[in-house]
Amino acid sequence: MSMKSKSTSELKASIHRVEEICKSNKLGLTEIRKQVFEIIVKNNIPIKAYEILDKISNINNKPSHPPTVYRAIDFLIENGFVHKLNSINSFVGCFHPNAHKECYFLICKKCNIYQECCDDSLKDRISKTAIHNNFVISNTTLEIEGHCLDCSQK
Ligand SMILES: [Zn+2]
Ligand SMILES: [Zn+2]
Repeated sequence: MSMKSKSTSELKASIHRVEEICKSNKLGLTEIRKQVFEIIVKNNIPIKAYEILDKISNINNKPSHPPTVYRAIDFLIENGFVHKLNSINSFVGCFHPNAHKECYFLICKKCNIYQECCDDSLKDRISKTAIHNNFVISNTTLEIEGHCLDCSQK
């Protein structure tokens, strides 16, 4: 399992993919939403809300308006472009936007690098468990903490 950071072309591709998805689903990708998405995907490790606010202020050369930024983050989460990692209260870009709703994350406790993984058998297991319990799933995000190869060897 490699947990390398994304290359420039991968970043461009994920930004382009979000633009395409928004276009075909008639979702308004406003400038602020796009800026927030770019900041989240360009960060190699999960990013916190206040860090996003700081970066937005720097880009636009004026203090950011927190509610607007939070609404942009909510939009990105609702549409599956961004995930929230509750265990570390941070945001990450989705590796395959719109392709899934269930995913799980391996998060290094030391350097915060992460990997998003999808596993259909896990997904099936979870939905069967939900059906058995008369439970309707709206979103599944599993967070698994540990150490990446580099950090475990240090
Ligand atoms: Zn995802
Ligand atoms: Zn690590």
